[in-house]
Amino acid sequence: MICRCGDCDRWLHPPQPICRHCWSENVSPQPASGRGRIDSFTINHQPWMPGLDVPFVIARVALEEDESIFLTTNIIGCAPTDVAVDDPVVVNFSEEDGIFFPLFERAG
Ligand SMILES: [Zn+2]
Repeated sequence: MICRCGDCDRWLHPPQPICRHCWSENVSPQPASGRGRIDSFTINHQPWMPGLDVPFVIARVALEEDESIFLTTNIIGCAPTDVAVDDPVVVNFSEEDGIFFPLFERAG
């Protein structure tokens, strides 16, 4: 779910109660495709806390619905060295303590 304006149809992220494009308050979460592409990324080698497996990819993913909407996330399911800018990706939710985190994996 990603917030979308019911008046101008623009997508909004991070979530906000008022549309930044037309100032409408007709904003609500709407289903998104879960698809996007890697806009940029870095490979983290620093174990910031005990038990954190490294290396891992921190990426900015541009959503298919609107490539000016980005999610900062992790790329999973492949070696960090296999990740490239513009790779198509699809969401893969990871649940931890009842919270579902939108992680992404390479599509196809
Ligand atoms: Zn709007």
